[in-house]
Amino acid sequence: MSAVPLRNNKASATAVRGISVLGATGSIGDSTMDLLRASPERYRVESLTANTNVAGLAKLAKEFNARFAAVADASLLGELRSALAGTGIACGAGESAIIEAAERPADWLMAAVSGAAGLKPALAAVDRGTTIALANKECLVCAGDFFMQRAAKAGACILPADSEHNALFQALGSGNREELTRVIITASGGPFRTWAAADIEQATLAQALKHPNWSMGQKITIDSASMMNKGLEVIEASYLFALSPDEIDVLVHPQSIVHGMVEFTDRSVMAQLGSPDMRTPIAHCLGWPDRIVGPAAKLDLAKIGQLTFEAPDYDRFPGLKLAYDALRTGDGATTVYNAANEIAVAAFIAQKIRFGAIARLVEATMNAFVRGGNLAPLSSADDALAVDYNARKIAATLLPQIALKAS
Ligand code: NDP
Repeated sequence: MSAVPLRNNKASATAVRGISVLGATGSIGDSTMDLLRASPERYRVESLTANTNVAGLAKLAKEFNARFAAVADASLLGELRSALAGTGIACGAGESAIIEAAERPADWLMAAVSGAAGLKPALAAVDRGTTIALANKECLVCAGDFFMQRAAKAGACILPADSEHNALFQALGSGNREELTRVIITASGGPFRTWAAADIEQATLAQALKHPNWSMGQKITIDSASMMNKGLEVIEASYLFALSPDEIDVLVHPQSIVHGMVEFTDRSVMAQLGSPDMRTPIAHCLGWPDRIVGPAAKLDLAKIGQLTFEAPDYDRFPGLKLAYDALRTGDGATTVYNAANEIAVAAFIAQKIRFGAIARLVEATMNAFVRGGNLAPLSSADDALAVDYNARKIAATLLPQIALKAS
C-alpha cells in the first residue's frame, strides 16, 4: 500500500491533536505555527526544533507551551536551558535530541528541517507510523524509494506539503493510478526567467534572493532561481507518487497560481489553484482529511487577469535537466544531485563560485560519481547518508576548478 493516501479514506480528527514541528523557526515552520496559533483549542504542541536559533525556538516553545524543545547544535544546550528555565518545558540538544523530538507522541508532524539533515528525524517519525506533512523534499531526493517503502511498512501517512505536490495530491483524487497519464508541476521561473544565459551566469546573491512570488528560506529561494528546486521537485514527485520521469512534466507559469495538474487517460486535466502562500498546502495537510479555514488571500482571478504558461528552457537552466538525468540513472544519483547542489549553493552564498557554476558543479560531481562506479541501490538511511557524504567530498574537491572555469 502507498504511504501517500490517494483517497480521503481516513476518519476525521475531532479530538485535540498532538503536533510536532521539526524546523519550527524556519519559513515553513513559521507558516505552520501561524496556522496552529489560529486554533489553539484544536492542537497541543508536543515538540519544536531548530538548528541554532535558540531565542526563536524558546519564544515559540513558551508561546505554545510545548512539551519538548530541541536545538541541533549540541553546544547550545546551556543557552536553551537558560532560555526555558522555570517553564517546565523539557529540552535537548544535538542530532539525538532532534530525533527524540520526532519520536515523541504526536498525531501530526511537520518535517521542515532544511537539507539532508532532515532525513534521520523524518525517518524516526515514519517509524512511529504517524501522519507526516513532508516539506523537506531532501528526504525523498536522498532516499526516496527507501523512505517511501519504510513509511508504507510502518503505516505512516505521508502528506505532501510542498505546494506543487500538495496540488498533485489533491488532483490525483479524481482518478486512479491506471487512469493517470502524467502530472505537470508548475514553476514560477524565478527571478531569472527572462534573463540571458550570460546574465544568469553573473547573477549576484541579492538578485537570486529576489523571488517574484514566494517568500521562502534562503536555500530554496536560490534553488528556485537556478530551477534546481524544480529539479528536486521532479525527483520528489517521482518518489512520492511512484511516477517515472516520463510521467512528470514541468511547465513555467510566472503567476504561481496553478500549482500542479494531473492528466488522465480521457485527457481531462485536473488542476489545483490558489494564491502563492504556503499556508494553503500546509492547512490542507493539517486539516486532512477535512478542510480547515486557511488565512491566505482569496484568489481573485479577475484581478489577476491572465495566467500564462511556457516550456522550461533547459539550456539556460541546466540544473532542471540534470534532475531528470539523475532520476533515470537511479541508485543514489539523486542523492548526489542534492548533495552537490547543497555544496554549490553554500559556495555561491560564500561568493566562492558564480551563480552559473552551481549547475556545473552538480554535473561534474554526478559525472565523477558515475565514473568512479560509486552508485548502488540504497537500502538504508546510512547508505543514503554515505552517498551524501561522499558526494559532498567530491563536490568540495571539484569546487576550486569549477570556480576558475568560465561558462
Ligand atoms: P528555512 O531555512 O527557513 O528553515 C529551516 C529550518 O530547519 C529552521 O528551523 C532551521 O533552524 C532548521 N534547521 C536547519 N538546519 C538544520 C539541521 N542541520 N538540523 C536541524 N534543524 C535544522 O527553510 P524552509 O522553511 O524554507 O524549508 C524547509 C524545508 O521545506 C526545505 O527542505 C525546503 O526545501 C522545503 N520547502 C520549503 C518551502 C518554503 O516555502 N519555504 C516550500 C516547499 C518546501 P534555524 O532557524 O535554527 O536555522
